[in-house]
Amino acid sequence: MDGMQQKEGGMTAPRAEGTTKQHLIDPEICIRCNTCEATCPIGAITHDENNYVVDPGTCNACGDCISPCPTGAIDNWFVVPAAFSLEEQFSWQELPPRPPQPAAGDASDALDAEAAALLEEAHRGAGGKARAPSTAAKPKVNLFNRASPATAKVTGNIRVTKSGTSSDVHHIILDFGAVPFPVLEGQSIGVVPPGADANGRPHAMRLYSVASARDGEKPGANNLALTVKRVAEPRSDGSVFHGVASNWLCDLKVGDTLGVIGPFGTTFLLPEEPEADVIMICTGTGSAPFRAFTERRRRLAQGGTASAGGKLHLYFGARTPEELPYFGPLQKVPPAVLAQELVFSRLPDRPKEYVQDRMRARPAELAALLAKPRTHIYVCGLRGLEAGVDAALEEIGAAHGFDWPSLRAEMREQGRFHVETY
Ligand code: FAD
Repeated sequence: MDGMQQKEGGMTAPRAEGTTKQHLIDPEICIRCNTCEATCPIGAITHDENNYVVDPGTCNACGDCISPCPTGAIDNWFVVPAAFSLEEQFSWQELPPRPPQPAAGDASDALDAEAAALLEEAHRGAGGKARAPSTAAKPKVNLFNRASPATAKVTGNIRVTKSGTSSDVHHIILDFGAVPFPVLEGQSIGVVPPGADANGRPHAMRLYSVASARDGEKPGANNLALTVKRVAEPRSDGSVFHGVASNWLCDLKVGDTLGVIGPFGTTFLLPEEPEADVIMICTGTGSAPFRAFTERRRRLAQGGTASAGGKLHLYFGARTPEELPYFGPLQKVPPAVLAQELVFSRLPDRPKEYVQDRMRARPAELAALLAKPRTHIYVCGLRGLEAGVDAALEEIGAAHGFDWPSLRAEMREQGRFHVETY
């Protein structure tokens, strides 16, 4: 059997040939408080008069149930040759003996807490609990971890901002060879830079958004691309601070290999329904997931399965066209798939313009989009973007008859308002 495929009867996170990682609740420790069942966003947890159990066919290992559990009974992950059924779990008085676990999996069977914390922080701007679009495809998460990452080979690393500008952004293609690394548009992957931090400990994991569609850079390829900005910040003493992971990634050569962790992310996903309008607001590398969204919709349109009226609407800000990642390729995306508002803040002889200014420029269009029940908004990039976007939407709402804070709360509840900032 292909080790990454789901098996009938349910599997959570398939691992090696013929095994899967299954989420289980310890009946001896569980106090039957119902917190996990109430927390699970996809209804994977259920109970009878005896036990609380996890449906292996539904659980996507998102980890939302882990920290609310008051006892820790929820946090059990077995690598098993075949998933325990619901009936088996209902009958247990205690967990069955743990089968022999893969050597590398011991320390890492738990959900990746490092990645979960980074994502929680990145999604904080959405307020409350981040929710996936109701029609999003089911993502795979936590397939590879620090102890046993997937090995990827760099098959491309090119700068996508003009050389000579201060914004050095690279399009880096990672190929997984024969090892399946399934991703959905909007998910992230993790990398750990080589070496040690200032305290001699292994570096923390960094997350990077997947910039390609789920079927790879070219349809059918087992690869994905990242959009990485080289962090180089002048210090007050005149020296320059070089970000550890971004510089390592941007300096990788074609043929180099690296470990990749993940995939991660269960909410910042594209709605599958082609009728959905999608407003995408970004600066810099915040464009990475939107490149993935665009490629997905473009391929669907080419295949004739889109678009039943839904369109992508991109508000993308940079200082100049030379500093806007993917400026050239963007010009080739059919307008029927993507409406583009490219906004520049440092053009000679032009007043500064930011994405929120452009949003205000044609408020009626945005108001009309927001009035549709299937419209989604995504904000991605540097954290500073959020306040400006919120202020613009509040103003547009005041002039066009809606209260943005209330609408935002409603959209968030319905999985239609998404923020990923860092
Ligand atoms: P670090 O070495 O971690 O430094 C980060 C910052 O810390 C610096 O900018 C600096 O301000 C400060 N700093 C740390 N040490 C010092 C020091 N000694 N002196 C002075 N300042 C210091 N990034 C992308 O480029 N593309 C993406 O698609 C992307 N997607 C992301 C998705 C998510 C969900 C998240 C959470 C983050 C994403 N990031 C992305 C950001 C990325 O994870 C890294 O944070 C970023 O690349 C910087 O990492 P670094 O190791 O280069 O910098």
